[in-house]
Amino acid sequence: MRKQTSKKKSLIRLLINLIKNEDTTKLYPLHLSKILKSMETLKTLIIGSGPAGYTAAIYAARADLKPVLYTGMEPGGQLTTTTEVDNFPGYPQGIDGPTMMVQLQEQAERFGTEVRVGFINKVTFATQKGEMHKAFTEDGTEIQAQSIIISTGATAKYLGLPSEQRLRGGGVSACAVCDGFFYKGQEVAIVGGGDTAAEEATYLAKICSKVTMLVRKDEMRASKAMQHRVTNTPNIDLRYNTEIDEVLGEQVVEGLRMKNNKTGTLEEIPITGLFIAIGHKPNTEIFKGQLDMDDAGYLITKGKTTETNLPGVFASGDVQDKEYRQAVTAAGTGCMAALDSERYLQSI
Ligand code: NDP
Repeated sequence: MRKQTSKKKSLIRLLINLIKNEDTTKLYPLHLSKILKSMETLKTLIIGSGPAGYTAAIYAARADLKPVLYTGMEPGGQLTTTTEVDNFPGYPQGIDGPTMMVQLQEQAERFGTEVRVGFINKVTFATQKGEMHKAFTEDGTEIQAQSIIISTGATAKYLGLPSEQRLRGGGVSACAVCDGFFYKGQEVAIVGGGDTAAEEATYLAKICSKVTMLVRKDEMRASKAMQHRVTNTPNIDLRYNTEIDEVLGEQVVEGLRMKNNKTGTLEEIPITGLFIAIGHKPNTEIFKGQLDMDDAGYLITKGKTTETNLPGVFASGDVQDKEYRQAVTAAGTGCMAALDSERYLQSI
């Protein structure tokens, strides 16, 4: 609080000296350059660089909202960890995820979006309509924005077993498409029974000699079509009612001890790679206490809009959608967020 006041005072003194035509750089060289560098005022700040963030940027830039987009830790978002995207309309032959994200970025930049590779690690949202929101980058730079679009997506979940955590990067991965190649011709395992696990299991089955798939219940949550793909792939060994007891190996994964949760039977299998595909967690940690979210941490938006509980703060993409979570639906809500933001800015 005190820091902000002293910054404001310094700026006022700078303006007075400029009016008096005094050489301000000699008076407060270091302090002022720091202040000027660390404060910025925007119409629209977009946080996140998946299909939602880039689509919001395309629309916001075309509406002359001069958006600045911070990419976050994983520029391009979850789709950069995918190979073929076959279900995004407009690509009859499919397109690989990373290429699609580069193209989305180029499209956003074509209309004037400034894309910055960086991370917003703190926000202080205004509660009154028309007030400035504040966001802070990892190096402490303060950004003030009239409106903020949150498109921070969701991150892969892990089981939390000590042996799994110890071997992350040593054979334990949450992205078959990114890391499957390293296990060419080898035996691997995958955990999960949803669409992601089913898709990744069939992907791995094309590269690896054998894929053991562990599903904790006696049924899979994946769509029927995906389940058929799994059961029709001969080198997928599907195990229901099965969980991991321990991942074996010191430096790298060497095997897996599985447990049948109905019978309690333990079984060890040799594997070199373990893929975790048990869902995602929304990236909303920095918004806790300011924005309304559900029990799982997904941001809550009002009715059919992207409005959050605070004026001028909008949410789009997986961060507010645990139901559909598709690239095309994320892009759709990104468009909505930019339109909602434009209307909001017109109204203040
Ligand atoms: P889901 O939440 O749908 O599935 C998670 C799976 O992991 C469930 O089978 C769940 O089991 C299991 N699981 C959760 N925690 C554990 C644990 N601790 N130990 C063992 N197993 C666990 O996540 P997905 O990532 O699969 O899918 C997310 C969304 O994306 C879905 O809506 C899906 O339809 C969609 N999707 C669509 C695709 C497509 O259309 N091509 C591709 C991929 C995803 P349980 O059922 O027992 O809770």
